[in-house]
Amino acid sequence: MDLQIHGQANASLPAAYRQVLVSWSIQGGLNPPVITHAKGCHFHDTNGKAYLDMTSGYVAVPLGHGHPKVVRAIQQQAERLCWVASSYFNDVRAEYAELLNRISPWSEGLRVHFASGGGEANDDAVKIARLVTRRPKVLTAYRSYHGSTIGGSALTGVDRWRDPLPNLPGMVKFFTPYPYRSPFHTREPAEESRRALQHLEQVLSHEGAHNVAAIVLEPMTGSSGMVIYPEGYLQGVRALCDRHGILLVYDEVMTGFGRTGAAFAATRLGVLPDLMSFAKGASSSYTPLGGVLVREGVASHFDTELFDVGHTHAGHVLAVAGGVAALRVYLEEGLFERALEIEGWLREGLGELQRRHPVVGDVRGLGAHFGLELVKDRETREPLVEWHHPGGSAPMKLFYGELMKRGVHAYGRYNVAMVSPPFVITREELSQGLEAFDAALSVVEAAL
Ligand code: PLP
Repeated sequence: MDLQIHGQANASLPAAYRQVLVSWSIQGGLNPPVITHAKGCHFHDTNGKAYLDMTSGYVAVPLGHGHPKVVRAIQQQAERLCWVASSYFNDVRAEYAELLNRISPWSEGLRVHFASGGGEANDDAVKIARLVTRRPKVLTAYRSYHGSTIGGSALTGVDRWRDPLPNLPGMVKFFTPYPYRSPFHTREPAEESRRALQHLEQVLSHEGAHNVAAIVLEPMTGSSGMVIYPEGYLQGVRALCDRHGILLVYDEVMTGFGRTGAAFAATRLGVLPDLMSFAKGASSSYTPLGGVLVREGVASHFDTELFDVGHTHAGHVLAVAGGVAALRVYLEEGLFERALEIEGWLREGLGELQRRHPVVGDVRGLGAHFGLELVKDRETREPLVEWHHPGGSAPMKLFYGELMKRGVHAYGRYNVAMVSPPFVITREELSQGLEAFDAALSVVEAAL
């Protein structure tokens, strides 16, 4: 996997370090830096080295690290109440629901169900859709990532989960538009949208639309390619859902809370779903908070039917207090708008990288959320590494390794490198990060 990080030698570490299984990595030979503390857009290791974080961790800390208002709010909440059963009412949960309604894309309002992370939230979104529609099937995109739980893995389209984990019954995949590498053999975005919608209509017809509870989509894909759907596509999906009584679920785990320059990608793109899963930026990952936002017209179903979903940590008060404090900071400091400003800086800076480096085939993104698609040849668009390359790939390891050497953290998948900095990054810090990208791209090109 490209997430595997090889840092400077830490061979003398106590054995306990290797008794922690490291996510998404072959454990043998791993040698990542040991991170001790972080502030703003930098985190620091035991060798005293600082890393500028160009992807907000896993696109998870839009506020950067150690924002004093959020830290203080969590400390104060910890002294008052950390946890209470989710069957009770609680003032912090209510405050969060009120704040969420302030940024809701739905004029009818919303209700919130809490989870601890994105995968769990997606599992719950599917459960809610099935409870509301009493239908079994769920459609998701081949090029998608929805989490590492059993449900999230089954929803996920990329192949990395398939070998050990068979799909779950009722989970059906379809192709979505990808203008740079069209699965529908088009060269024109409007045509790409049109054919992709025809394809989806055919899938619905073969699966029986009346059996389909939900279509689950990232409104723009995240780690599985940073693909932005062409104009008309999401509108078309919305229309198909309306025609067949299917609930449209957006996975806004990555795109929610300002990442695309608006509270939600739904707001930025102007096409509204019925449910949205969220996590990551909700609390800027200061506390493990996720959940599902349900528009009022759907949530009211449960006024007379059993809401048969829950977790011990659903609405964990300390976790939600982190969410309240983070959302207050986003609003008070105008950080969703800041992500729009960063979009301008990224278009300029990444555009320049594309001009300088033939290996950069495509640059695309919204807000503070961009991807660089790397290719061997710009004319043929042959990917720098294969999409389904098992176990990572030498050129991408070289790329991320060079960034690490230069004190810059970033990640991505396959041949798409992500650039999703914290919203608090300064223009100067961003330029420093992009200089490291420039150098790392040169190293990759020299090795080609
Ligand atoms: N959905 C999307 C779009 C994601 O990007 C991720 C994580 O990267 C998830 C779901 C899973 O979230 P978590 O890792 O919090 O379970």
